[in-house]
Amino acid sequence: MNRVGLFGGTFDPIHRGHLTAAKKVKKAFMLDEVVFIPSAVPPHKEGSRVTPAADRLAMLRLALTGTNGFKVTDCEIRRPGPSYTVDTVRFFLENAHGKTQMYLILGHDAFLEMHTWKSFEKILEQIPLIVIRRPGGISHSGSISVSALEVFITTNLSCDYRLSEDGTRYQHPRLKPIHLFQNTLLKISSTDIRKGVQSGKSVRAWVPETVETYLIEKGLYR
Ligand code: ATP
Ligand code: MG
Repeated sequence: MNRVGLFGGTFDPIHRGHLTAAKKVKKAFMLDEVVFIPSAVPPHKEGSRVTPAADRLAMLRLALTGTNGFKVTDCEIRRPGPSYTVDTVRFFLENAHGKTQMYLILGHDAFLEMHTWKSFEKILEQIPLIVIRRPGGISHSGSISVSALEVFITTNLSCDYRLSEDGTRYQHPRLKPIHLFQNTLLKISSTDIRKGVQSGKSVRAWVPETVETYLIEKGLYR
């Protein structure tokens, strides 16, 4: 069976943190493919200024050029209205006709907001998650501990989730497992990059060169 990871985000812009995380998850979970899914109007970022989808998509395409097993789809951008993960998951599962094992990949900062997502229970019924431990995380105060994750899961998602014996995932009698991916990852965020560009810093260390060239030529984040 094919194994595919869905990796959604604003990707404003894509950076080496996203790319490294995707590579490591792909290897660890033996995925055939990771699909990057840039969101249209991010439901959690409404009100803040988000770069046009066409530019975010173009930068993703540049970043993934020449890579193997990494793809980008514009399915959320083409869908009218805000992008809800539950709709995207349904779309992929319907197209897979049960022939692909799908995973939903997300950083723990995104995961800690999952209880606010539209129909989050439906998502947990349908697709296993891979939660990436992300340095800095939601408060930029260091990585979240497993026990803090557990409190979040059992308080906000479902009290029936239990850590597996080997400590790699939370299991549930009815819902799909939540896998924890503990690798140390790069402390980079798109916010840092946007701020860096605005204050005239080079972002060469944080994004692929082609992405840097694109965002300079387009005058993004100025
Ligand atoms: P912003 O600062 O604008 O929120 P971001 O860097 O968090 O940008 P997003 O597009 O919000 O990027 O994130 C998409 C997904 O990638 C989320 O699930 C997020 O948790 C994850 N992610 C972002 N940066 C990293 C990183 N450095 N390591 C691992 N995962 C990351
Ligand atoms: Mg983010």
